[in-house]
Amino acid sequence: MRRIVVDIDNTLWDLAPVLCERLQEASPGFPHHSQWHDWSFWKGLIPADRLYGIIRDVHMEQDTFEPYRDSRDFLQRLRGKGFHIVIASHRERETYASTERWLEKHGLPFDEIHLSYDKTVLFDDCWAIVDDSPVTLEKARQAGIVRAGLRNPWNESEEHPLFADLGEIYRYLETQCTAGKRD
Ligand SMILES: [Mg+2]
Repeated sequence: MRRIVVDIDNTLWDLAPVLCERLQEASPGFPHHSQWHDWSFWKGLIPADRLYGIIRDVHMEQDTFEPYRDSRDFLQRLRGKGFHIVIASHRERETYASTERWLEKHGLPFDEIHLSYDKTVLFDDCWAIVDDSPVTLEKARQAGIVRAGLRNPWNESEEHPLFADLGEIYRYLETQCTAGKRD
């Protein structure tokens, strides 16, 4: 069975506006998320521990936020294709319960939840990863696994397969499945 790793933040739900609002509350004048043109957009604007604390707070409330409209359909189609779905997110272990509640509340199919700060530990036996982080996408490229992500200001300047929505990502993954069978 093919394993696919699927990110949560800015892949299955729209974290950026929520994070932006909280960063602007903590640090008035913080740039709007449309201006986050780099994965390090926050550096020099807010201390790392403050940023991580704000993100952890959002993750602790995960079950109060809505997924993208096409997240459920995307995961259901992957499951229908026989994929083993690993939901992987850079977040603290203490956010596991709220993360699991959120997935179950919205009927988002999954086989495993992996919370850590290093998704590369999943790469050895995975076929593809869906993630918006240019850092993770680059590591996936180097590992030679299929990669795709939603296009965002912080990743669009890099050379990765990026798409407007999860439906487009699904169709891309299908083409990669077919390509793999021809090899
Ligand atoms: Mg993400």
